[in-house]
Amino acid sequence: GSLLSAEGLRKSFGRTTALDGADFSIHPGEVVAVLGPSGSGKSTLLHCLAGIVAPDAGTVRYDGRELSTRPDAERSALRRTEFGFVFQFGQLVPELSCTENVALPLRLAGVRRRAAERTAAEWLERLEVAEVGDQRPGEVSGGQGQRVAVARALVTSPRVIFADEPTGALDSYSGERVMELLTEAARSLNTAVVLVTHEPRVAAYSDREVVVRDGRIREPGPAL
Ligand code: ADP
Ligand code: ADP
Repeated sequence: GSLLSAEGLRKSFGRTTALDGADFSIHPGEVVAVLGPSGSGKSTLLHCLAGIVAPDAGTVRYDGRELSTRPDAERSALRRTEFGFVFQFGQLVPELSCTENVALPLRLAGVRRRAAERTAAEWLERLEVAEVGDQRPGEVSGGQGQRVAVARALVTSPRVIFADEPTGALDSYSGERVMELLTEAARSLNTAVVLVTHEPRVAAYSDREVVVRDGRIREPGPAL
């Protein structure tokens, strides 16, 4: 069955309708690209699926239970332990080293510093950026920073990664390498990935693509 699904999602911001009856579902370990033009509702869909934004109508089910029926504390615990996030910019804590950044989700989950930093170092190595561990995010390149962000998203072995334009700020070579490393690691953990992008080249790393238009999901096909 599906791990995460949404039915009939509606969300407006003032007079702007961001979602207008969107349906979505993803299986464990599946990588689904959410494509569509800017302003079509992709980020809002991702925020609703992750329980960051409450839809005006419709339901989101994760692991067999409706998200909206869970208390806030439980939703934030899910976001810390079972979900991972990768965004386009600005997600690393500038005052911490890259290793400390990757270790942070484990520290928040109660793992002791030595063990957390050892695991973090392993993930940096897996993402081929072991050499930046002692540096601050401001001292590394954009591509290295995104690999650190991916390592941080994966370090808790989450069941779902939410990635919103994760390569949007990178040149196409580093972007493709980040996508390769992200999808490889996710497959090895059986982690599902909801990948929001407007770039077909990035979407090519997914198992399946859906297209958002005017706040609704259209499966791609000849009719488009
Ligand atoms: P996409 O990710 O496809 O670019 P978004 O989901 O970010 O689309 O946005 C869909 C529409 O909703 C856009 O018109 C956007 O400006 C609007 N929108 C999204 N978030 C907000 C918000 N917090 N406040 C007001 N309008 C918003
Ligand atoms: P993306 O590039 O991921 O689509 P945006 O730049 O559209 O992101 O939005 C970034 C953040 O600002 C999101 O949290 C979104 O909900 C919010 N946002 C988007 N459009 C508006 C808007 N018109 N007014 C206020 N907040 C917005």
